[in-house]
Amino acid sequence: MHINGDFVRAADGRTFETVDPSTGERITEVAHAGAADVDSAVRAARLALEGPWGALPAIERGRLLGRLADLVEANAGELAELESRDGGKPISATTSMDVPGAVAQFRYFSGWPTKLEGRTIPVAMPDTLCYTRQEPVGVVAQILPWNFPLLMTSWKLGAALAAGCTVVLKPAEQTPLTALRLAELIVEAGFPPGTVNVLTGDGETGSLLVDHPDVDKIAFTGSTAVGREIGAKAGAGLKRLTLELGGKSPNIILADADLDAAIAGSYQGIYGNSGQACYAASRLFVHHSVFDEVVSGLVDRASTAVVGPALDPATEHGPLISAEQYQRVRAFVEDGVASGATLHGDVPPPALDGGYYIRPTLFIDVKPDMRIAREEIFGPVLVATPFDDLSEVVEYAHDTDYGLAAGVWTRNLGNAHTLAARLRAGVVYLNTWSAGDPAAPFGGVKASGSGREMGQPGVESYLEPKTVWTSLTPA
Ligand code: NAD
Ligand code: MG
Repeated sequence: MHINGDFVRAADGRTFETVDPSTGERITEVAHAGAADVDSAVRAARLALEGPWGALPAIERGRLLGRLADLVEANAGELAELESRDGGKPISATTSMDVPGAVAQFRYFSGWPTKLEGRTIPVAMPDTLCYTRQEPVGVVAQILPWNFPLLMTSWKLGAALAAGCTVVLKPAEQTPLTALRLAELIVEAGFPPGTVNVLTGDGETGSLLVDHPDVDKIAFTGSTAVGREIGAKAGAGLKRLTLELGGKSPNIILADADLDAAIAGSYQGIYGNSGQACYAASRLFVHHSVFDEVVSGLVDRASTAVVGPALDPATEHGPLISAEQYQRVRAFVEDGVASGATLHGDVPPPALDGGYYIRPTLFIDVKPDMRIAREEIFGPVLVATPFDDLSEVVEYAHDTDYGLAAGVWTRNLGNAHTLAARLRAGVVYLNTWSAGDPAAPFGGVKASGSGREMGQPGVESYLEPKTVWTSLTPA
């Protein structure tokens, strides 16, 4: 792990393996952080905040973030390969999206420090100057999942560092490697030691970090179950909190949609990253007049999907992250069949060198109370349902605990924007799916989380306004 500018072992010497999901083989061992390590990392972050990092002028914070962007870009090939090996993400995706996306995040956030202005408040009291300062929240714990390790690290770190916070970051136990390499690049960029500390470990490490009394804010992305637990603890400890949790997002195709675009976009929306995305378009609702055409378009496209090892440039869909996730998703597919839904797609997994592969699948004849229709599967499994009119489909769309993303495919501007306003979700995609940009806020409502990441709200979630009152009464 990486504490106060150096690689260190766990105080108690524990380690764990990280595995290549394309083969099921061990890549290497990394340190497993325990209570003593959590404590040193938080202490290093506090000292950096009160010391060299906290003393840096805004323009210097921006300059360091810009250098980090340049270093990630200069090491893009290595980072893409590391991410693909550790997380099973296709090299075509890590090369074209994850790593350039991380560069864009750091570059975007490098512009923010010099724009974080307070306000002068026009108060009623005479001879009084009242103004606000935008101060960093403090020491931040950032806990990450395994589905977009480097990209999410970059948007969480970018916002926190732009705001002037210091960070203890815990990558997921399945994907610790790019965060560790990034820690070296952070040192190389010239950030003072302790500004960013990377603790490798599992849920136990995460839990110790959440409990640490000297952590001011927690930013978590992961499962709703763990999010609820962290939310309760943050409430009790009165710590600031951002949660980015699961989804079961509705994707609606109206009768007048450009069907080729809708099929291609809906395919990527659910099967991109092998379905392991919080914003996955996992519930498809299609107007009954075009339902059969859309379903057969998706099934045709899925039949030619290239599922394979992450480092093969031809691979479109890599393996699932782990044997555990593979079993979870298979259990959902079996449950769907057992509960009476009709399955399209490849049931038996291809035997590819011990990796955790599942081909794109699609269910029709789905009832709203089936588990496959209600629970986040986090795999390449789509459920499709026909509808008749807009009010009916809005009701279907809202029949979920979640509220992360929603999509609408139509040529009718009125319907598009009416639905964009009505759908209860943090993000709405019109005639597209999974568009993203560092400047555009992202996050969910209901059980999908609270707060926003990226964009101005993302930076503001790491700031506390301080109000300063000054008497100007002449002496
Ligand atoms: P998880 O929520 O258990 O893990 C996410 C992160 O939280 C990891 O870094 C983990 O070590 C840490 N963690 C686990 N338990 C913790 C605790 N008690 N306190 C503090 N930190 C803790 O998710 P998972 O087990 O990796 O995946 C399970 C399911 O979660 C997936 O199938 C999917 O449905 C969902 N998920 C959602 C996202 C997302 O982007 N919103 C990402 C990953 C997983
Ligand atoms: Mg791994």
